[in-house]
Amino acid sequence: MPYITTQAIVLHTADYRENDRMLSLLSPEHGKLDALCRGCKKPQSPLMSAAQPFSYGEYVLYQSKGRMTVTSFNLIDSFYPLREDYERLRYAACMLEIMQLQALPGEGSPKLFLLLARSLKRLCYMPLEPRAVTAAFLLMDAALSGWRPQLDNCVHCGKPIPAGEPAFFDIDGGGLRHRDCVDGNTPALPLTAGQTAWLRDVMRNGIEKTEIPARDAPLLPLLHYLEDRLDTRIKAAKGLR
Ligand SMILES: [Zn+2]
Repeated sequence: MPYITTQAIVLHTADYRENDRMLSLLSPEHGKLDALCRGCKKPQSPLMSAAQPFSYGEYVLYQSKGRMTVTSFNLIDSFYPLREDYERLRYAACMLEIMQLQALPGEGSPKLFLLLARSLKRLCYMPLEPRAVTAAFLLMDAALSGWRPQLDNCVHCGKPIPAGEPAFFDIDGGGLRHRDCVDGNTPALPLTAGQTAWLRDVMRNGIEKTEIPARDAPLLPLLHYLEDRLDTRIKAAKGLR
């Protein structure tokens, strides 16, 4: 099967020779794909938009001797407004880096792909706080990757954490702890009652339906949590801390 037709989002590009680029693509069915895009840096190249970070479209890839080459491309969305808003661009770059770290060749995940496509759309076109959109992306990404945090009961004592109570996010334990169940040795980050409510509501209803204010989105605890699970630092998140 020398040809593959798949939707994909460009996670990363690297210049290659004078006019070419190597692309790292996220495909819903094939996971991460590395493909050479020939001639895309030439003006008037029909593949120019295929080789931009964030580009979302349908790719036809030719496979030969273990290498893939882009042969044609139909753009679905370039998420162009991200390029005109530095703040939103930084959050979007953070999402791409996480996908780049997580995605594996040959291991498709339609749900992760959809999460990325929808999150970029929210950053780009919806009147939502980029910080809250990114926090929701991190929360859902963790849940889809098998690291769904325990949000209703304490990871230490197992008893419910009542609504309206501040709590701690226990990074190692993978969920919330009562304030009284934390001592100086627990790697846990404090959450306000509003942040706890935000996590629960976004997990249940999604970022577009939550009525908890965006200021309660606990971006930093979620970043720490994901970095711990991925066992690496997310470089694009540096300026967001
Ligand atoms: Zn407890």
